[in-house]
Amino acid sequence: MLKRTDYLTRTYGKPEGWKLAAYEREYGGYQVAKRLLTTMSREQVVDEAKKANIRGRGGAGFPMGVKWSFMPKVVGAKPHYLVVNADEGEPGTHKDRTLMELNPHAVVEGCIIACYAIGAHVAYIYVRDELHLSKTRLWGAISEAKARGFLGKAPFGKDWEVEVYVHSGAGAYICGEETSMLNSIEGRRGEPRMKPPFPANAGAFGCPTTVNNLETIASVPAAFGLGCDEWSKLSALHTIGDGGVRLYGINGHVKKPGVVELAVGPTFNELIHDIGGGVLGDKAIMCVIPGGSSTPVLRPSETVNAPDPKSPMHPHHGKSVFDVPLGVETMRQCGTMLGTCCVTVIAEGTDPVWCMQNLMQFYGHESCGQCTPCREGSAWLHLVCTKLLDGEATKEELDSLHDIANGIMGNTICAFGEGTAMPALAFLQKFRPEFEAYVKGARKRADAKLTVEPWS
Ligand code: SF4
Repeated sequence: MLKRTDYLTRTYGKPEGWKLAAYEREYGGYQVAKRLLTTMSREQVVDEAKKANIRGRGGAGFPMGVKWSFMPKVVGAKPHYLVVNADEGEPGTHKDRTLMELNPHAVVEGCIIACYAIGAHVAYIYVRDELHLSKTRLWGAISEAKARGFLGKAPFGKDWEVEVYVHSGAGAYICGEETSMLNSIEGRRGEPRMKPPFPANAGAFGCPTTVNNLETIASVPAAFGLGCDEWSKLSALHTIGDGGVRLYGINGHVKKPGVVELAVGPTFNELIHDIGGGVLGDKAIMCVIPGGSSTPVLRPSETVNAPDPKSPMHPHHGKSVFDVPLGVETMRQCGTMLGTCCVTVIAEGTDPVWCMQNLMQFYGHESCGQCTPCREGSAWLHLVCTKLLDGEATKEELDSLHDIANGIMGNTICAFGEGTAMPALAFLQKFRPEFEAYVKGARKRADAKLTVEPWS
């Protein structure tokens, strides 16, 4: 059920809502960080954070508290670092930007708490360079917090030092991958590293590091302010470990695209119709991309198959996937991923072959090139889709798309490979007749449409 909340967005739309005065007025301003630093140990903060069931908001959905607990318990010769991922390069994803612009103090307070929990004294917020307003607002919030003694040598009188910095990325999509981001912060080429070692053992500058998404970090003060148990229970899916509230993006062929804060668990239908105002031109929905273009598409005709009464999905057995509460686990059970939770709606009448070609062009361009299956495969996927659209591809070439995508799966250093192959395989499987129509000459590029105008 749709439940609007304002734990993250209370300052949105308020006069100078990004300033410290507004943060103090609306949230009490850094009182949560003060309480935690002065009354709780580092271990207690981590244990409490686990109860909030905050699943990482960047796409992978890993539980935040568990990730914090992977950091070494004792700070040794090497310092610990927090890296906040605000690269947000996923097509269709635009939620972290709103937090940076409209509630940057929640991010800074979240950094203080997270640094304390993982034993770090420095946080780097990695923002892509073109987000000038985001960087300006973050730097402004950091200066205000520093001037008031919330950052620096002894925040809130605690004998413990913390600093937060904004680091500009140059705009490569792959720098949103955590190890690639670490390389970029170190001044190296933005290429993913082999894992292990994982960042908790050897991250930034070879030191133990936690990488969290920016919305994840911004949720921390609100979760602790409310009480982590209570925060978790705001979600319709808290019983399966997906707690709290989150920012949902809605874009593509809807009448009112945007970002909204909701308790975890709305359905696609609620997002599209109640929040997005319905589909442009009142058309039917062809499919949705759940959260960033790396997630496989879903069609409204797909249903949940969970006959086993022990399955957590059993209550939804037989329902359309568009009526299932949106969560990390529920989307996995539906054969896709929640990802960044910014849904792209694609209306009936749009050409799925063109959609896939558009996506493959992006991935072919953004592959960092280290792994042959990803570098060559993404380029071939784009090439063959282009040949299809031009009416020049054979049936064998259409079939080769499956082989190319399957050849990428599981054979690459980072998840970019799967992020390319999975949406490709989903389009191929779910729109086979449309792809075949190009091979048979029954469809031409001139028929292809990527957009639906509001008046069409
Ligand atoms: Fe680079 Fe692609 Fe390999 Fe990731 S999977 S390391 S993006 S070539």
